[in-house]
Amino acid sequence: MKKETYKNECYIANERDVLNYVTKSSTKKQRRKFNIGDIFINGAVCKKCGDYIRSYHRYDFKWCKCGTIAVDGGSWYCKRNGEEEDRIDVIEKFIK
Ligand SMILES: [Zn+2]
Repeated sequence: MKKETYKNECYIANERDVLNYVTKSSTKKQRRKFNIGDIFINGAVCKKCGDYIRSYHRYDFKWCKCGTIAVDGGSWYCKRNGEEEDRIDVIEKFIK
């Protein structure tokens, strides 16, 4: 996978982005203050259009450009729409 596929993955100021409040090594107690679950990055790449989509919070449901796959659940759960073979999951959990 070429790096430019991830061009949407820039840490711009987005108050809903959990990465603005915590780091990957933040403890569960620190995360709960901000209502953040156990998933650090909840995203997927569509194999058809190459779009990288990421769900930032619990109700952030996102489709890729071509509408083949979708992600949802933010830091709480990795909900997916579309076929598994059409996507590459990009999921990282908090260390602790
Ligand atoms: Zn797509």
